[in-house]
Amino acid sequence: MSESKLLLDLQGWDTKVTTIKSKLEEAQFKLNDSTEISKAKKLNDLVKEKLQEITLKRNKIEKDIHSLKEKMSSINTKIYSGLIKTEKELKALEEEMESLDKNINTYEDQILTIMIDQDRYSDGLKKSSNQILIIEQTKEKEIPNLEKAISELTTELNIASKQSANVRSQCDSSSLIQYDRLRKSHKGIAVSTLTSNLCGTCMVSVPTKIIQELKKDNSFVLCNSCQRILCISD
Ligand SMILES: [Zn+2]
Repeated sequence: MSESKLLLDLQGWDTKVTTIKSKLEEAQFKLNDSTEISKAKKLNDLVKEKLQEITLKRNKIEKDIHSLKEKMSSINTKIYSGLIKTEKELKALEEEMESLDKNINTYEDQILTIMIDQDRYSDGLKKSSNQILIIEQTKEKEIPNLEKAISELTTELNIASKQSANVRSQCDSSSLIQYDRLRKSHKGIAVSTLTSNLCGTCMVSVPTKIIQELKKDNSFVLCNSCQRILCISD
């Protein structure tokens, strides 16, 4: 096999190695990734906290209403106790009752608003808890598939790496230096096959003189446009 064909073969295996490695990385990342579940749990915690906060607020207001009602009831008892002697005293108590009643009304309006919020956050909490469950179940189903894919990819990677090393051992060290350098600087493609009279990578037509040289099959010929190693495919 000519040196350029060996390098083309090597490039085939090296490309495979790169592709498998990136697939492996992706699968491993997916397996270990907990971003989605953390996000869902964080949201769930926030909703829970807010709901607790609202419930505490409601409890406090209900307590306040209760004590205001007790106050009203004791004033009421006082009014009908027959102990009130003056009109002025009675008027003051009635005014206090009125003010207490007003406060109770304000508090009760607040409770109504809180109840709406409580319903809203309770629904939100159900939804966010359910979302956690869905994510966990999806992940659980995904894990065996991902583990299987990782195991298969690892086997494929071993084969491709061995093949790459095997072809590499058959190549000249000087051509390997050129190949490695070109692969690094030319987006992973160091060897380009000739398609009719075009460079298969940059698609620029290769001069006849170069093609003739290439057909001699004895030396490295570079594409005059992209500077990749040219190779005639079988
Ligand atoms: Zn080219």
